[in-house]
Amino acid sequence: MVIVLLEGKVMQIKKNMGIVYLSAMVTALLLWVPLRGQVETGKAERPKNVILMIGDGMGISQLSSTYYFKDEKDADREPAFSRFRYIGLARTSSGLEVVTQSPAAATALATGYKTYNMAVGVDLDTVVRENIVEFLSKKGYMTGVIATSSITDATPAGFYAHQPDRYMQHEIAYDLLNSEIDFFAGAGSKYFRDTTGVYPFEEHNIEINYHRLKKIKKPEPGSRFGFLLGLERMPRMLDGRKDFLARASSIAIDFLSTGEAGYFLMVEGSQIDWAGHRNQVEYMITEVNDFERTVGSVLDYAEKNGETLVIVTADHETGGYTLGAAGENNGYADYSVIDPTFASTNHSAALVPVFAFGPGAENFIGVYENTEIFHKLVSLMESE
Ligand code: MG
Ligand code: ZN
Repeated sequence: MVIVLLEGKVMQIKKNMGIVYLSAMVTALLLWVPLRGQVETGKAERPKNVILMIGDGMGISQLSSTYYFKDEKDADREPAFSRFRYIGLARTSSGLEVVTQSPAAATALATGYKTYNMAVGVDLDTVVRENIVEFLSKKGYMTGVIATSSITDATPAGFYAHQPDRYMQHEIAYDLLNSEIDFFAGAGSKYFRDTTGVYPFEEHNIEINYHRLKKIKKPEPGSRFGFLLGLERMPRMLDGRKDFLARASSIAIDFLSTGEAGYFLMVEGSQIDWAGHRNQVEYMITEVNDFERTVGSVLDYAEKNGETLVIVTADHETGGYTLGAAGENNGYADYSVIDPTFASTNHSAALVPVFAFGPGAENFIGVYENTEIFHKLVSLMESE
């Protein structure tokens, strides 16, 4: 039976009228329930908190990998990406180059401005542009950044720093001290000292820990916390990083939730990109699996919390990664085995996925520029 509903009327009716009326009622109910909230507020539901998760270099093939190359303990589990209902694709080209680098991509996501590839938090004319952390801090939000690279590396830096070149890491580190960021975790302790000594964390109310992640108990109002757990980078998963990313995220969420207004947290799986540059399949798979597990634990939290918008995306794809069939087997293509390969040691211009979960998630479907993610977030978070 075919039923076409137009303006609430059943246009085409065949056979059993009872079923038709029941179907029409169910359809009307399904349409009415989701629309109700939007009619009342005039726009989509507004989240209290935002968690933006960035898989550096995580294209569609990289995330698809998590469906085929699972760690043993995750063998029976559907990857967390399947839990999203609102999915989009973002274009990533920088303001100058067709293939982006991480600084320009981070700046696009954090400030809504397309810029040149080496720029961090400044536009094409090196003018400082307000980022989402600064925007939300003015509204009383608490904010945090987490990475498996140096915390001064391009992706996290885009959310607090303003420098014309990504390699000005000592200046970027100083920007972190002077920023509104309340929580950070990653590596890069070597960038927080110069010839005059270690940077003055205490003057900036930052309690710094160089040794291990630790829950933050009863923080004083206004106190800030930093974990710098490596000179330059966190270890690879293959070298025993364990659950750093998921655990740092959970500690950050607990701490940032102590604010009244809400919070913004950026979580980066930094090394998916490095594995791509090196064309190392096992490295890539273990890094993207770690990121996927972290997405899963953040979604577990967001499901219970109900007020948190979770966005998972990438800054760009790295390595032209593919999941092609294994190739020849007695003169025939062997379609029973995947042979992961890379086409490049550079970034690519492939569109990247955008997954959204929670209040406002429906705004993230479609195909759009990466700068739109900033604009969508700002319009959602602007007070009514
Ligand atoms: Mg990065
Ligand atoms: Zn890269």
